[in-house]
Amino acid sequence: MCGKKKQSSLRNILRNLPELLGCVRLQRNVLWLLQAAEAALIWKTPAPPWVKFFFWLALHGKCWTADRRWRHGLQDDNSCITCDQYAETLDHIILGCVFSREVWAACLRTFRLLELIPTHEERIMDWWTTSRKRLPKVLRRDFDSLFFLVGWNLWKERNGRTFDRAARQPQQLAQAIVEEASLWIAAGYRSLGALDARRAG
Ligand SMILES: [Zn+2]
Repeated sequence: MCGKKKQSSLRNILRNLPELLGCVRLQRNVLWLLQAAEAALIWKTPAPPWVKFFFWLALHGKCWTADRRWRHGLQDDNSCITCDQYAETLDHIILGCVFSREVWAACLRTFRLLELIPTHEERIMDWWTTSRKRLPKVLRRDFDSLFFLVGWNLWKERNGRTFDRAARQPQQLAQAIVEEASLWIAAGYRSLGALDARRAG
């Protein structure tokens, strides 16, 4: 069994402050408002509907990671299938795992967004909503689509390793993601087209 890294953020503070003050009802309302805002952002993001649905499930903690299966008594071990060092939560799969951070680095380098490389594990919704605000407004929708594209592919990679014992190297997966970006653009998710124009040669 592996432990989960905990990181603080403004949202975490906001989330926990009412409990610290002893206001359970206020905390419930704050949580509901934060979650509703994040859900609205998910449905507004230019991405295929099944990818939006995946992130909606992620927001509500409904994805069957090893850690969730372990907490439900469905398996004995909650370790990450990729690094075998930490609990396999969705935050770890998409942001915390050393494999995922290499994939993010390669993708963000391609689109000249290196300043956003995740450096530690945190709640994926916190990282997304914080990172997009570091960009000029004209690039935020583009980044939303990229976040969904990379996150979705990291989840699929995890499923391939778990169920088919098929594993790719970080560079291979990053290359596949960049190629899939072209398919998303062709399918009408044009915000990725603006990012594509920034591609490093
Ligand atoms: Zn891992």
